[in-house]
Amino acid sequence: MRPRKVPLRKCVACQQMMPKKELIRVVRTPDGAILIDLTGKKPGRGAYLCGKVSCFKLAKKSKALDRALKQPVGAEIYDQLEQDFIAVEEAFIASKDRVDDDDEA
Ligand SMILES: [Zn+2]
Repeated sequence: MRPRKVPLRKCVACQQMMPKKELIRVVRTPDGAILIDLTGKKPGRGAYLCGKVSCFKLAKKSKALDRALKQPVGAEIYDQLEQDFIAVEEAFIASKDRVDDDDEA
């Protein structure tokens, strides 16, 4: 059995290589805003984090997003992103679970 080839990205916090769909993308838009991009399609420089708040906290502590996005990220932006991250984490996990859940009807 050969593993299927999936695109891998590195989590900027824990440095683990993970399949893209396991990661949450943070994007710096062309106008300089930093946001969570659940679609993975927003234009701008992206950084990937595991879909776990623990990794976000690690990124915040180590300022990993500053380096990945090549822009200083203020503490208030980290705080805002952390709230957004917590808000999207459930939806993110739910959307992954839904895949095994389609024999319900
Ligand atoms: Zn991670």
